[in-house]
Amino acid sequence: ARETSESNIDVLIIGAGPAGLMAAASLAHLKVPFRIVDRRRTKIFTGQADGLQCRSLEIFDSLGFADRVWKEANHMIEICMWNPGPDGVIRRSDRIPDTIVGLSRFQQIVLHQGRIERFFLDNIDKYTEKKWGGVERGTLPESLEIGMTGEYPVKVVLRGLSDEEVEVKQVIVSGEKSVGNIGSDGLFRSNLGDAAEDEEEELIRQSKKRGGESEIVNTKYVIGCDGARSWTRRALGFELQGEATDFIWGVMDIIPITDFPDIRMRCAIHSANDGSLMVIPRENRLVRLYIQLKEVTPDASGRADRSKITPALIFGAAQKILRPYKIDYEYCDWWTAYQIGQRVGTSFSDDTNRVFLAGDAVHTHSPKAGQGMNVSMQDSYNLAWKVGLVAKGICKPSILSSYQSERRRVAKDLIEFDHKFARLFSGRPASDVMDAEGVSMEEFKDAFLKGNLFASGLSVNYGPSNLVVKPGNPAEQGDGSTRSSLLEGTPHNLTEEEFAKKQALASGLPVGMRFNSFKVLNQACARPWHLQERLKLDGRFRIVLFAGNILAPEQKQRVQTFCDKLDAPTSFLRRATPKDDKIDSVVEILTIHSAKRTETELLRDFPEILHPFDAHNGWDYNKVFVDDVSYHEGFGDAHTNYGVNKERGCVVAVRPDQYVGWIGELEDFEQLTNYFEGCLLLRDQA
Ligand code: FAD
Repeated sequence: ARETSESNIDVLIIGAGPAGLMAAASLAHLKVPFRIVDRRRTKIFTGQADGLQCRSLEIFDSLGFADRVWKEANHMIEICMWNPGPDGVIRRSDRIPDTIVGLSRFQQIVLHQGRIERFFLDNIDKYTEKKWGGVERGTLPESLEIGMTGEYPVKVVLRGLSDEEVEVKQVIVSGEKSVGNIGSDGLFRSNLGDAAEDEEEELIRQSKKRGGESEIVNTKYVIGCDGARSWTRRALGFELQGEATDFIWGVMDIIPITDFPDIRMRCAIHSANDGSLMVIPRENRLVRLYIQLKEVTPDASGRADRSKITPALIFGAAQKILRPYKIDYEYCDWWTAYQIGQRVGTSFSDDTNRVFLAGDAVHTHSPKAGQGMNVSMQDSYNLAWKVGLVAKGICKPSILSSYQSERRRVAKDLIEFDHKFARLFSGRPASDVMDAEGVSMEEFKDAFLKGNLFASGLSVNYGPSNLVVKPGNPAEQGDGSTRSSLLEGTPHNLTEEEFAKKQALASGLPVGMRFNSFKVLNQACARPWHLQERLKLDGRFRIVLFAGNILAPEQKQRVQTFCDKLDAPTSFLRRATPKDDKIDSVVEILTIHSAKRTETELLRDFPEILHPFDAHNGWDYNKVFVDDVSYHEGFGDAHTNYGVNKERGCVVAVRPDQYVGWIGELEDFEQLTNYFEGCLLLRDQA
């Protein structure tokens, strides 16, 4: 056997699906050294998840590749509902906008997971300082030990697989031959069938037997993004709790040949007796059909017989549901089937906050609401900057506890939503008001409308922690349970009344929710920007200073006093910034004022700390903005939209992931200091 090598790395990511790649991209943007391994030999090329919510697009924009996705994707504009009429024949009963109007600068789009993975890989390559070696494929963890001491306390042994071993795995899990020229078979990765829990152990045994390579990696943190059958989760001894349902669905990506009029719309179709169908129009003429399979039901053990499921069976079901319309295809890109199961992980991290789980590893549910990839990526977007900033010594380790408290609650909400949605979708439509067992189509539409807000990803509202200052018990886990480690470092005792007063200073920026975006103009060059475009993921916290009417003498003085405090040698801002770094390297200050742009001068009217000077680059012209009318893109009316007083303004602390952490008056400097003392490691200036 070869000698086992040993190395150190700040963060090890296990699994390179959407969650793992999001973690990797975030760390690349923060310049934190990481490695990412995956058992698969290649990325995904067809099928699997395809829906992208508004929030995911905002996140992609913070990483710099939303434009690529936006251009290539199919845009979902309208949802059509089809239901049986009194004669039992399906007809269009409703149209609603796919994304709630005005919710975000982006709307829901669809593009397959393989392209998203491609964009991630390119982005990581671009932002990794040293040449990035890429995802280490055909590699899986063999053991994991969490130590208590040293800079790299977690020890993971990695094992390399040969090409044959990676191949073998697919045969083991699939257990059936490929389906020929009818498109890629996604069944082998589906949750149907009985893939052995110990398949990894078998692969490792084989690799050991032939003297395959292994390596010891000592790391500060591990992020387990290894999907629904997560090895990392099992290594930690955690479980997914929940149940499988009896609903079995087939998925097909085809180029349809049909007379159904709404094939290029997103459709929810309930037939009278043949089940339900969802139509998702896709890029490149493709259409995805989600089809309820009434002919396949789970046995007494709760498992469905996978061998019965073929493309012909799935498509036959679709043809029946769509009657009297006809549908056929010449080309199928991919197909799969799954049994809806709704499960949430018992824990998202180990007790010492060294090993974390994200994505499908901690929540599984039906794919129809288009949530899987989105929520998975949003998990690791929430986590990676925290891990990265703690690894760099900028943030206190106690911020890591907020990952579990914030994301487990989201996962639980997601399962609840999915539960309701799946039942309404899979149920038979009620024939009339007396039909208690049937699903009321009014209720379905209502759930769809409400679900749209949830599905956008924009209703997420994080609870109290040392990163979010609001009343409540930060140890609460969203399901009645508490975790006392979450109380560490949360010094904010705010009553409901005090909080309501602070929140009223910017009623359109709820504390705990993502910073909404409206257009403002750059004071120096008059170019309009969506404010969110200035909140890139680079690991920096931000203070958004609504400076009010800067030309009114009294207000100008308030701003001056606030800035003097920021600029003082002992201020949290100075203490947070490493000695030789620029003053905006840990916390960046962005200013928005409400005076007339043409009457205001950047250098004359704004204290230097708001547009810092450096000897190489001169003044920083990209930090002060005005809420005024643009030449070509109208008026963003940011103050009205954010609910901020135009004369007096306010101060908002924003986390690196764009969530609002704290709101206060310009005079609340001490509370602002408390906020940053709660999460940043400040240098002792004594
Ligand atoms: P995954 O994408 O599952 O990524 C996990 C990664 O970890 C994989 O690359 C895997 O190879 C790797 N890995 C696993 N074990 C190990 C190990 N021991 N060591 C190293 N690497 C490991 N969502 C929808 O919205 N619509 C759909 O139609 C849809 N269809 C799906 C069909 C199938 C067959 C599957 C499997 C999923 C589908 N999903 C769908 C769900 C969607 O793909 C996931 O929600 C999303 O990919 C979750 O991302 P993730 O990164 O958490 O996990």
